[in-house]
Amino acid sequence: MTPHHLHATAAAWSLADARQHLAQLADDEAAQIAAEAREEPALLRSPVYRSRHASGSHSDPVGGMLATATRPDRRNRWAEMAERATGKLHWLAQQIDAPGAGLGLDPITLVLSALPMLQPGTTAVVAKHLRDEDRWVREAIGIAPDRAPLHGPIPPACPACRARNLHVQTAGPQSAWTVVCDGSREPDGGPHRPCLCTGTGCPCGMDGAVEGVAHIWPRDAVLGAVAGVTR
Ligand SMILES: [Zn+2]
Ligand SMILES: [Zn+2]
Repeated sequence: MTPHHLHATAAAWSLADARQHLAQLADDEAAQIAAEAREEPALLRSPVYRSRHASGSHSDPVGGMLATATRPDRRNRWAEMAERATGKLHWLAQQIDAPGAGLGLDPITLVLSALPMLQPGTTAVVAKHLRDEDRWVREAIGIAPDRAPLHGPIPPACPACRARNLHVQTAGPQSAWTVVCDGSREPDGGPHRPCLCTGTGCPCGMDGAVEGVAHIWPRDAVLGAVAGVTR
């Protein structure tokens, strides 16, 4: 797997998790809307309301009450957002000719199964789409990325930049977890220095290292390299 493939796979699992949260919110909202709809007929049956309705006209205040009682159904914005995200993923699956597109499968499944067959350049574009969508959904519903610092008695250092700022990305099955380096800051709180690959000969030790790509490793490879430090 190239770094592009690792980034795309990690982003796809992260988005899959984010969509699950979103689907739960949409379900909760649908239940809430249904509960409110069940309450409204009781209001309509109220004797006070009925008598006023009988004598009401467009010019008296009852008209306003009537408008409130018959307001249109509340929109389920979480469901709309989930639908839009699913639509975008289906579009993405079609763009990369994912086998099985159009069979009614979940589009994340389609994208994940197609990723290993894609060229690195295409994969980089797919990774960006997935990452943007994941960030958008997570910001909208207020959940942080699924990640944790790589702990140990002494947190392991990045083989490339030597900063002890490695994080495990924990979305999806454990076999798909990855480790990324958050880089470092200039001394005295200066600007963030991202940890980017320098390509062939880079100390990251990745096969197929790509210059300029943020460092990423399969988690198992990192745990193997620092065995004895983290477990
Ligand atoms: Zn680093
Ligand atoms: Zn590198």
